[in-house]
Amino acid sequence: MNWNRRIQALAGTVALAMATGFPVAAQVPPTGPGIPGNPVSPSQIGDTSAIAREAQGWLADLIKINTSNPPGNEQIAAMYLLGVLAKDGIKAEILDLTPGRSAVVARLRSAAVANPSKALLLVAHLDTVPVEKGRWTVDPFGAVIKDGYLYGRGAIDDKGMLAANLAAFISLKRSMARLNRDVIFLATDDEEGGGDASIRMLIAKHWDKFAAGFAINEGGNVFLKNGKVQYAGVQADEKVAYNIAVVARGTSGHASQPTKDNPVTHLAAALAKIGNYSAPVHFTSIVRRYFEGLAALEDDEIGKWMRSMETTDRGEHAQRVISDASPLWNAMLRDTVAPTVLAAGVANNVIPAEARANLNVRLLPGDSINTVVSDLNKLVNDPQVKLEVQPNAGLASPSSSLESEFYGVISKVVSQEFGGAPALPFQSTWLTDSAQLRLHQVQALGLVPFPLTQEDLKRMHGDDERIPLASFAKGVDVLSKIVVEFAVAH
Ligand SMILES: [Zn+2]
Repeated sequence: MNWNRRIQALAGTVALAMATGFPVAAQVPPTGPGIPGNPVSPSQIGDTSAIAREAQGWLADLIKINTSNPPGNEQIAAMYLLGVLAKDGIKAEILDLTPGRSAVVARLRSAAVANPSKALLLVAHLDTVPVEKGRWTVDPFGAVIKDGYLYGRGAIDDKGMLAANLAAFISLKRSMARLNRDVIFLATDDEEGGGDASIRMLIAKHWDKFAAGFAINEGGNVFLKNGKVQYAGVQADEKVAYNIAVVARGTSGHASQPTKDNPVTHLAAALAKIGNYSAPVHFTSIVRRYFEGLAALEDDEIGKWMRSMETTDRGEHAQRVISDASPLWNAMLRDTVAPTVLAAGVANNVIPAEARANLNVRLLPGDSINTVVSDLNKLVNDPQVKLEVQPNAGLASPSSSLESEFYGVISKVVSQEFGGAPALPFQSTWLTDSAQLRLHQVQALGLVPFPLTQEDLKRMHGDDERIPLASFAKGVDVLSKIVVEFAVAH
């Protein structure tokens, strides 16, 4: 079904649900789901339009709680979630990590004894990146609704998903459905910082509270193109981040007598070379499958080059065409190096002794930072310039399986709900909490369920972040259906 038509159909059921007074909410038993004798089939959980409206309210409230990281201050948002869950009789727990910074966990049980290897984790993070307030056209913490969009920092990343997870979780509770696995709601903190309050510490201190075999998290997206869903990229792996300091050293002196070893000049020359550097293409199995699937969805010309990338005669040219067509595709095919920060100089009339830059490096899974450093050293070829790999690099994790039952469920629901658009395995160029989960044997898959255009996706971490209200409602519906399909006994 065409996605726009589906939205119109949903709008009709919203009106119906309102007229009938939200019947699902009236069925809440005192004892909760998973109780033998209260089986509810997945089809009875069908209509999510009422809960999507509630979820829109939660999203607006969450946007109004400023969790810009740094400093995060996620505890206030965590307390808010505790209150929302308590209204439906769900006892959530706050997990404190550092002062003012907390995560939230809650569980719907399938049996008296938990089986962590089967459990499904719904993950989203409470914190957001900061804003440059002067560059926004609306208050970034005002949850302003305009032209069918809800504006605010975190609307997409990641409070939208947080609200959708909450909706899927609460509607499961209200449905009294018999679960075939525990479903765990987890709101993490310090995702954007990755520091002492992040999921790394959460796992180290509280793993037993949310240990699971499967997880759905951010990381992949539903790509909307020309008014239709083109595909859903289901993140099964992610690149690994490193930072390299480029340090040029020379002799300091009076700027009135320029010298050949001025570190500013040497650094600039090195960065000019690095800026034009393109690492060799490596195909991971996920990226190979992604392009195989995408080739059928793109126009004939692009499709042809996508299919030719591993041919011996036209491969190199094809890789160049595809890399030039999209920064995302380029970054999925190779390790990337982006200069991000420059620092040099103490005064306008002083030649400094040192000039520094930071390179943000994203490695394909399985690639080595030493190879990149060695390639860059050869390229720069300047004894005055040194490359220093910085500590706190990302961790490489195994990829999630594309053969798991959970991947199959997501593919099936995506195709049903988005008019036959396929799910394609996706290797994100960005980092998520899923890397840490995958290191703990969790089959973590990434899918922010809201259909979004490139234009809207670009606003994540940028100015005027916003989510189309129709996409939000549709995403709540899709996520709920995925959870029901996977966790409710048939
Ligand atoms: Zn995020």
